[in-house]
Amino acid sequence: MEFSTAVKRFFLYDIVRGLTITLRHLVKKPVTLQYPDERWETAERFRGFLGLTRNFQTGEENCIGCLNCEKACPVDCITIVTADKGRAMHAKEFYIDYMRCMYCGLCVESCPTTPKSIVHTNQYETTGYFRDDLVYEKERLYDVWEKEVNFDGPRPWGKLFGLRDRENERRPAEPEPEAAAPSE
Ligand code: SF4
Ligand code: SF4
Repeated sequence: MEFSTAVKRFFLYDIVRGLTITLRHLVKKPVTLQYPDERWETAERFRGFLGLTRNFQTGEENCIGCLNCEKACPVDCITIVTADKGRAMHAKEFYIDYMRCMYCGLCVESCPTTPKSIVHTNQYETTGYFRDDLVYEKERLYDVWEKEVNFDGPRPWGKLFGLRDRENERRPAEPEPEAAAPSE
């Protein structure tokens, strides 16, 4: 046995070294998050679930049913059924199949309205017990956007298109709490 190996063994070098690494990690800030109460902040240009935008106060839809997004989608996961003609045209039904969506953003790029009628959000939990759960229809797509506007974290797409501020302006003011009745 070499002399240096003998010295290391005598002073329990490997055990001390291993314990030092363990102790160092004990005092380090943990890298784990308490999901779902805590979440990683998404990147500035993160593309999550798609949401449809509308005026929260009046319910007026921004989508004009032009079908640009349906045509731009490279995997055909958007299905729109339009109603009426000319300026009254709108999307009567709107479906996005999240089993096929690859979050490329082409639908958002092609949307001609201001503000955008279809936007990416920070939401990314794409799960469901059944395949049909991942085909989002119009009301669920509006819910995605509403959840995004109410979300406390960063909302880069809303910020990018000025949607968040506009939607917040349109929100009805919170009703004043009723004054307490004077005691007899
Ligand atoms: S993000 Fe891309 S794949 Fe998904 S719906 Fe839009 S265009 Fe289609
Ligand atoms: S979401 Fe935009 S691109 Fe798609 S149909 Fe509506 S207005 Fe047209």
